Amino acid sequence: MESRRTAEQTREFDHHTVHGYSLLTEVTNASSGKHFHLSISLHPFLKIGAKLRQALLAQDCLLCQAASGERILCEACESELPTTASACPRCALAGPGDAECGACIADLPHYDASCAAFIYAYPVDALIQALKYGGQLALAGLFAHKLHQRLGTIAGVDLIVPLPLHPARLAERGFNQAAEIAKNLAGLSGIPMNARLARRVRDTAPQTALPWRERAANMRQAFSCEQDLKGLRVAVVDDVMTTGATLDEFAGTLKRSGAARVENWVVARTPRGV
Ligand SMILES: [Zn+2]
Ligand SMILES: [Zn+2]
Repeated sequence: MESRRTAEQTREFDHHTVHGYSLLTEVTNASSGKHFHLSISLHPFLKIGAKLRQALLAQDCLLCQAASGERILCEACESELPTTASACPRCALAGPGDAECGACIADLPHYDASCAAFIYAYPVDALIQALKYGGQLALAGLFAHKLHQRLGTIAGVDLIVPLPLHPARLAERGFNQAAEIAKNLAGLSGIPMNARLARRVRDTAPQTALPWRERAANMRQAFSCEQDLKGLRVAVVDDVMTTGATLDEFAGTLKRSGAARVENWVVARTPRGV
């Protein structure tokens, strides 16, 4: 009985998918025992379906618990997320103008540009933690959407590459948050994503455990890329850019493989010295 019900459900589902708005139902006449196939139009039920879907997906804002419909954050919380008015075009550090900052001029990074949707401050830091350690994957969609808005018109990018996670970290977490965000960005921009282009070959000490000046050394030769990227313009996606040491090392790796240009698309940028 159990298996028959499953088979019927599967058939009904398939039929629904193929024909859109009609549902095939199998009915058995009690007196004759004959089977009838009825095709029921679902048109009158579509409106109810939409309402039911809304009710099922209705949720509370992750930050203030106000009703937020299908959105993970309510409109008010989303509009108040901290961002910068102007920033260094190369490292996305907040600054008074749109010129490159002193740090980039003094020690030129391998990457050519960076864009950050937000400042790494409350509540963005809490939301990123919720994505990485709380498995709130819907946040990857929100972050990608905001980053895509911040980027404006995207020109001169051939390929989106998420910052690789070491296989040990991937096994521990079950997903790479950068890849989840990158996947959404590829969908929004129409630019292809390749998550297998490069690998993280060294399971480095967490950057947060180290003083800023030791972070570049910690990242040395952390990545490997065996593919020929000759002439490609790559956008690297990550959740947080802190000192930029990790992204600088990765950009160096991509450029040694032939990348013509590397830019960073990050959800949040840490203000200097934090
Ligand atoms: Zn809210
Ligand atoms: Zn800079």
